[in-house]
This record gives sequence, structure tokens and C-alpha cells, in this order.
Amino acid sequence: MPWHVLGAGSLGLLWAARLAAAGLPTSLILRNHDSLQRYRQAGGIQLVEGSQQRLLSLPAQTAAQPEPIQRLILACKAYDAEAAIASIAARLGDNAEVLLLQNGLGSQAAVAARIPQTRCILLSSTEGAFRHASFGVTFAGQGHNWLGDPGNPVPPAWLDELTQAGIPHAWSDAMPARLWRKLAVNCAINPLCVLHDCRNGELLEHLDEVAGLCAELSQLLAQTVGATAAGGLLDEVRRILQATAGNYCSMLQDVQRRQRTEIRYLLGQACAEAAQRQLHLPGLGALQARLRQYLLSLGLPAD
Ligand code: NAD
Repeated sequence: MPWHVLGAGSLGLLWAARLAAAGLPTSLILRNHDSLQRYRQAGGIQLVEGSQQRLLSLPAQTAAQPEPIQRLILACKAYDAEAAIASIAARLGDNAEVLLLQNGLGSQAAVAARIPQTRCILLSSTEGAFRHASFGVTFAGQGHNWLGDPGNPVPPAWLDELTQAGIPHAWSDAMPARLWRKLAVNCAINPLCVLHDCRNGELLEHLDEVAGLCAELSQLLAQTVGATAAGGLLDEVRRILQATAGNYCSMLQDVQRRQRTEIRYLLGQACAEAAQRQLHLPGLGALQARLRQYLLSLGLPAD
């Protein structure tokens, strides 16, 4: 059963390259014919990991190709996910399954609503990759992937293929809690790093601000996914800031490249959930207003 990977960005290339390297039939779905042409000229995906470099010449296509899709990895940004799934929805077979790689929350529900007959599997990843060339990806951060389907606890048969491809993973029956917890950590770190224009470690100099946000985010987590997911948030955030002190967070990297951020699916989602639950979280609201104003001042979308 072939894998289709939509989105030839950092994570899409990393997943496609690892599946193909394990000998599993894998096709990339690219945006348009120009992109397809450039991919063919490149000769495949260049995967760099440590000192190892490999070229994986897997096939590619556009969404317009008619062949049915049974296993899709949706590897675009959260704000592109709904349009991307719409572009290939007609190709999804009766028992198709879609793996959603998007960060944050909100895009998964929007995708699922577009394809109500198709099983959607949620994913939370701590792996890190970046593109060093159009179709070249550097696997920069070892991590782990949690996958799950809140609507159906039975793991899909293809998890063995992820093992075969060396993709570290575990099936989880607590995906909403995992995704909310990751979102909360992101909300405590990323917007402040953007506003202070600083590396993660420098946020330790603004720990009062971080602590205030963590207190509000813990309240939100307790209401949304329960007390267990809410515990020890500030300690975890502090540990992450120390362990990644020299790094720029993903949202600041987007801003530095003058690219759209995923704020709507992170801080935006937290603020929307708080409003829906009539939870008064003034620190989060003020942070969202400051961040939106700052993004607009740079000419970037505020959501
Ligand atoms: P990216 O911007 O590098 O790649 C996304 C790709 O999808 C782009 O090449 C874009 O052109 C393509 N795309 C968008 N719409 C398309 C369409 N309709 N048809 C075909 N291609 C389309 O993004 P990324 O870094 O790979 O991130 C993907 C998701 O994974 C994000 O939500 C991100 O937050 C999350 N994530 C990334 C990393 C990482 O290390 N890069 C780690 C964890 C989570």
C-alpha cells in the first residue's frame, strides 16, 4: 500500500525520505508542475543526518494525478491544511487514512470536517528538521512522535512500517491532552521570544512574565483536558528554556524569515478556548493583542 506525502517542506521531506529509504513505496505530492519540474531536476530528496548524506529518488506528482490515495501524510503548515486536503479529497479511497502533522490545534478539526468518511490520525512530534535546499532536508533534532485517534483506539496496521522506517513513535490514547499540553508550552515560550526578539534561554530573564502565563495556561488546561495535563507547566517550560537556551523558537524563525506564523492555531486557539469557556485570562489576552500588533507592524498576517 503506497504512502503519499503532501507538502515537500521540512517534515514532509523527512517523513518521505525515511519511508522511501526503508523500501516502502512513497510518493510526494507537490503544489504544481513547476515544483514537479524542479524536483525532477534535483533528482530526488537529499537527506542529511549528521555526517551522512543520501539522495532518495522517490516519485512525485501533483494533486491533479487521478490515482486513488489510501495512506496520506498531510505535512503542510496548519494554515494551509484545509485547502491542501480539499485539493486531494476526491482521491481518498473508501478506507483511506490521513496522518496530520500540523502543530497546534484547530486545523485537525477543520481537515476532519472536510473528509468526514476518512479516518484522521493526530500526531504530536518533538523531532526537528529544516530545509537546506529546495528538496534537501537536514534532520536536526532527534525526538519522538505520538500518534492517536480519539474516535477509535485501535492502532492502524501500518505502525509496523514506521518502525521499519526507523521513525520513533508510540500509539497514544491521550492525543487531545498531548496536543493541548504542547500548545500550552508553545504559548508560554514562542510569543514572548518573538516580542523580546530573543533566543529561548534569554527568556529566563523574564521569568515573572513566563510564570504569569503558565498560571493562566494551567487553568485553561485543567478546564480543557484535566488536572493531570495541567500540572508542573512552569517547571517543564523552565527545563525546556534551559535545554534549548541557544535556539530560536519556530515562531521567531518564521518572523525572522518574514513568513506567516501559526499563531492562530497556538495562542489564538488558547484565547478562543478561554473565551468559549468564559475563563478570564487577562495575561494571555494581552499577549495575543501585543503579538498581533507586532506582526501587523511587520506586514505579516495577525492570525
Ligand atoms: P514547511 O513550511 O517547511 O513545509 C510545508 C510545505 O507544504 C511547503 O513546502 C508548502 O509549499 C507545502 N504545501 C502547502 N500547501 C500545499 C498544497 N496545497 N499542496 C502541496 N504542497 C503544499 O513546514 P514544516 O516545517 O514541514 O511544518 C509542517 C508542520 O509540522 C507545521 O505545522 C509545523 O509547526 C509542524 N512541525 C514542524 C517541525 C519541524 O522541525 N520543521 C517540528 C514539529 C512540528
